[in-house]
Order: sequence, then C-alpha cells, then structure tokens
Amino acid sequence: MAVLVTGGAGYIGSHTVAEFMAKGEEVIVLDNLQKGHREAVLTETFYQGDIRDTELLERVFINHDIEAVIHFAADSLVGESVQEPLKYYDNNLITAQRLLVCMVKYGVRKIVFSSTAATYGEPENIPIRETDRKEPTNPYGETKLAIETMLRWCEQAYGTQSVALRYFNAAGAHIDGHIGEDHRPESHLIPIILQVAGGQRKDLAIYGDDYPTADGTCIRDYIHVTDLANAHWLALQKLRQTEGSAAYNLGNGEGFSVREVLEKAREITGHSIPMQIAPRRVGDPAILVASSIRAQEELGWKPEFNSLGQIIQSAWNWHKNHPNGFVK
Ligand code: UDP
Repeated sequence: MAVLVTGGAGYIGSHTVAEFMAKGEEVIVLDNLQKGHREAVLTETFYQGDIRDTELLERVFINHDIEAVIHFAADSLVGESVQEPLKYYDNNLITAQRLLVCMVKYGVRKIVFSSTAATYGEPENIPIRETDRKEPTNPYGETKLAIETMLRWCEQAYGTQSVALRYFNAAGAHIDGHIGEDHRPESHLIPIILQVAGGQRKDLAIYGDDYPTADGTCIRDYIHVTDLANAHWLALQKLRQTEGSAAYNLGNGEGFSVREVLEKAREITGHSIPMQIAPRRVGDPAILVASSIRAQEELGWKPEFNSLGQIIQSAWNWHKNHPNGFVK
C-alpha cells in the first residue's frame, strides 16, 4: 500500500518524502509546483496538479492503493495571510475539505496533517502545551485550526483517524546536502541570514528590538526539518497501531532570540553578517516555545539534530553549495 504526500515538493514535504523512502515506504507525491520544486522530490511517482482538480485527485486515488495521506499542500506565510485571507481560506481550508471528500469516497481513513504553532496565537504559557488556549491572530493559523476541527468532526462521522502536527520554526536542511530550503521570495530568518553570509543580500533586517525579552528580539523554537519529517513517520505508525486521533507540538523546547540566531550564524559561517533594526512585523508574538513532551511520550519522538549549531550548520552546507536553491 502507498502513502500519498500532498505538497511533497515543498520544504518540509520533500524532507518527509526522503524520510519515508529511507524507511522503505511506497510514496506518491501530488504537488502543483507553485512553490515546490520537482528536483526536491525523490520518488518517481509524481503527479503535478492541484487538489482542487477533482478529476486528477480521483485518478490518484483510483490508480493507487492508498493507505494514508500526509497533507502538506498549503500556503504558510503569516503576513500574506493577513493581506489575502480569502487566498488562505481557499488554498488551505477548501483544499483540505476536497481532499477529505476524496478520502471518504475511496475509504482512506488515515491522515497526518501539517498544522502549526500559529493555531495558538498569543501564548498563555511558555512552553506551550497542546491543551493551551487557541486563538489564532492571523488567517494562516485560523485556517489550520479550522482544519483540525474539521478532522475531529470527520472522525466522528466517517471514522477518519488523524494526527495533527503543530510545527514550531522548521529550519535546517537534509544532512546529506541534496535538498534544503528554497522559498521565493525568502522570508524566513535562517535562510535570510545565510543569504547575507553568502553575499546575496546586503544585511539582515531584525524585525523589532523592543519586545519583552532579554535582548529585545523575538524568541522562537527552531526544529530541524528532518526531525519534523521523522515525526510524520512516527505519527503514521501510531495511526497504523492504534485507533483514535491526536495533536502534537513539535519543537526542541528551547527558545533562541533573533540576535542569538544571528550570533550563532556568524560563528558558523565566519562572516560578519551586517544587520539593521527594522520595525516589528505585524502578527509576531514575542516568544513561541513548544512543550513536545506529548510527542515524546506518545510517539516516541526524539529530535536528533537538536542544537541550534547543528540546525544552522546543515542549512549553511545547503546554502553554500546551492546559492540559487534548486535553480541550476
Ligand atoms: N525575522 C527577522 N528578520 C527577517 C525574518 C524574520 O527579524 O528577515 C524574525 C521574525 O520577526 C521572527 C523570527 O525572525 O521573530 C522568525 O521568523 P520566521 O519568518 O523565520 O518564522 P515565523 O516565526 O514567522 O514562523
């Protein structure tokens, strides 16, 4: 039986495909390549197209004996979601609904869903636990939370079993260096810092240094993309072994400020990496740090590349060797 990975050409999706293939799983990828890269996908069973193309989606379910779906395909930029909420309701919520319709029609009952720390909004506790209040402060988090709710209703009505994985800050690149992060335009902190180190950008703009943190810059919990990928495989094992649905935070449980990340990147790259202070970015909470105890206890998940140095070093190896990402 096969595992269908939607959005498998994206950053976290492609690392998950690599992890699943290394584990000997049969993997099928569906991706519209709007943001993803065909070169990032290791499996040959690749369908280019959109989940909203019902005919194509049904063809995938008819052509293959699909056991489970790992659903990544979505838009994921907080700022953009505030500017264009309807795009996020369409690309995230409506596509998930279409996918679930197809899964129910073809009797596929297992799904691992790509959720986010943005479902919590402004945290009430640090570290954040799965049971904490969820009040998203942007349409990105809102649509992901709505999908989690939809999954619970689908479990009750159709027996759909789901695991929602709430990622904190995905970072780093595959340890063998063949895939990594390539967003266009790039908006994430670590790749931007490394583009400055590599001479592709003039400086880093730090979005705000007046937050209530020790050095005034935002604190985030950076988690290696391969550790995230591995959590998807463990989530699938849970769905294979036990009935019932669950949601898990995925982070290292340790927060680093923007200045600390910059300092570590200076140390690793040996470049000075100039910076300037810029205004705050709308919708950025001061501190986001995960409690991942539930994932450790229930999934047996243990992050392997769990130091900031390892995360930045792996990203730097990718950026140095692929300054233009997947473009040759
Ligand atoms: N950040 C920054 N300058 C940048 C990009 C990001 O200061 O050019 C900050 C951002 O405000 C946040 C942290 O770095 O506090 C991580 O941002 P990123 O976009 O990587 O991830 P997010 O937290 O939005 O998921």
